[in-house]
Amino acid sequence: MAYDFDLLVLGAGSGGVAASRRAALHGARVAIVEGSRVGGTCVIRGCVPKKLLMYAAQLGEGFAQARGYGFDVGDAAFQMPRWAASKASEIDRLEGIYRKMLAGSGVQLIEGWARVTGPHTVQVGERQITAQHLLLATGSTPVRDSIPGIDACATSDDLLDLQQLPDELAIIGGGFIAVEFASMLARLGPKVALYYRDRLPLRGFDEMLRTGAAAALQAAGVELHPGGAPLRVQHADDGFLLGLIGDRVRAFPWVLNATGRRPNTRGLGLETLGITPDAKGAIAVNDEHETTAPGVYAIGDVTDRINLTPVAIAQGRAVADRVFGSGARRMNWAQVASAVFMLPPIGTVGPTEAQALAAGHRLKVFETDFRPMKQAFIGGAERTHMKLLVDADTDLVLAVHMLGADAPEIVQSLAVALTAGATKANFDNTVAMHPTAAEEFVLLREVSRLAEPAPAAAAGA
Ligand code: NDP
Repeated sequence: MAYDFDLLVLGAGSGGVAASRRAALHGARVAIVEGSRVGGTCVIRGCVPKKLLMYAAQLGEGFAQARGYGFDVGDAAFQMPRWAASKASEIDRLEGIYRKMLAGSGVQLIEGWARVTGPHTVQVGERQITAQHLLLATGSTPVRDSIPGIDACATSDDLLDLQQLPDELAIIGGGFIAVEFASMLARLGPKVALYYRDRLPLRGFDEMLRTGAAAALQAAGVELHPGGAPLRVQHADDGFLLGLIGDRVRAFPWVLNATGRRPNTRGLGLETLGITPDAKGAIAVNDEHETTAPGVYAIGDVTDRINLTPVAIAQGRAVADRVFGSGARRMNWAQVASAVFMLPPIGTVGPTEAQALAAGHRLKVFETDFRPMKQAFIGGAERTHMKLLVDADTDLVLAVHMLGADAPEIVQSLAVALTAGATKANFDNTVAMHPTAAEEFVLLREVSRLAEPAPAAAAGA
């Protein structure tokens, strides 16, 4: 059978765009379907606008710090409408670049919502399209049913489109989005209360980072409510009522639902391919990103594995290289660095201390925390926290965790060393660059503590 295309990609986010362009580079006839704006969550309503808001928060803090550095600085209030207008034109510019890149690569953009109607067949509006291979890259969407009544609250999509910030708000959740926005918004004007169900925010991160994050949020004036996720939310005339533990109720004019994201598979017609997503909506794939349906692949958030933009891009390119090129590199998913863009930010690569112990490693733990030079000069209280996890038997550096200024930039570079199999001796033999915070990672000589796995983990390792 002659197909309209060799590859049809569903979803023009970071992963889908990267896959389609790489496949076209290999000579495939490629189309990509998108019902919303080209660029997906990261560019349009995620990483990019979020980081632009973080820069605003950081600059606001800079005004106060500038006084300590000798500048006469008056009051500088954040004007959300000005940021919103600049943000809108920057996102338009980036979307334009994405569209040009697709066209320049020879990828046909089909605008509309796609529904799979059978093997090799997709419906977009009135149009039936056939393709030899399908790539599902439809991303994820905020969860709206985690708590009764929470569907009426705003999500990060809405927040980034606000023209005016509320004076006071509550954030529900303790993950990436909750922590990043709590940290930023508290610096931009609003009073922020953060409600999460664990004892610390950022479940799944190393304990040092979680403790440091809670302290940094508190120092920024965020009201923390550990173990305090609301049981219900009620929409009221002038805002929301949070139904809290112990029959308490608290009113907020504005509430951000940051209780996670869910794969976008509803209404996609996957049943016509014999694909059944899991309870969360995620599509199962093997190491080659193949679904259970022949010729159908899935990448990125829709597979709910490591939900990060660069991972989706790498997965998309791997599919294109394998299907249309000369094969794909095997990626090392164990050492994917990630960042939490709170202030000060987090950078992390490798397992947490608890995960490393559970995997049976005997650990040398190197930890330090200090007041960075920029803060000390102005009497600031902000601290930097660093941790290296070293396998006591092999000397391999297993993980680098940092909370402090420039942590994502520093940890991204150290991730190269870890990917290359660096040992603690390699770190020790690296000459420091002075004066920097990063140099502390090559100057850690004293073992802070030795940690042994529980007997069961050690036996299983
Ligand atoms: P996360 O999975 O990071 O966090 C979800 C939060 O919601 C958790 O704190 C979770 O609590 C809480 N939660 C879930 N259900 C409930 C409930 N019923 N009641 C109360 N709390 C609940 O999701 P995010 O939405 O913050 O981010 C989505 C994904 O997007 C991230 O996992 C990440 O992959 C990506 N992302 C990456 C960023 C980056 O790279 N800097 C920035 C933003 C997003 P608990 O911990 O108790 O389960």
